[in-house]
Amino acid sequence: MSKTAKQKREEYRDRQIELLGIDGWRKQLCEKHLQYLKRKFDKFIEMYGGKCACCGESEPGFLTLEHKNGTGGDIRKSKNTNNNQGEYIEACKEYRPDKYEILCYNCNLAKRRLGYCPHTKK
Ligand SMILES: [Zn+2]
Ligand SMILES: [Zn+2]
Repeated sequence: MSKTAKQKREEYRDRQIELLGIDGWRKQLCEKHLQYLKRKFDKFIEMYGGKCACCGESEPGFLTLEHKNGTGGDIRKSKNTNNNQGEYIEACKEYRPDKYEILCYNCNLAKRRLGYCPHTKK
């Protein structure tokens, strides 16, 4: 009987642990995960225009995902907004400019705090 994918994965893991030690293996897993998230984030930024929809900020380090229909507050309340890593992945699966947009942290924070961004009130 041939090995299942799960068995193969476990064998690979055991070999890596032997090679790197358990801490090294954990570190590698963690780095891979971070790289994966970064790739998804980069893709999201690229897909949705590469800059803040409000002020045009284009430094990826400042940018974040915003739910367009989230202004009512209902979605916010039901979700942990600090953990939206899964949402980048969701947003990348399908291009939905009606649902998501890019905002920089400044605009995002202002919108959450004030309900609008001061940029729009000139
Ligand atoms: Zn902005
Ligand atoms: Zn703004």
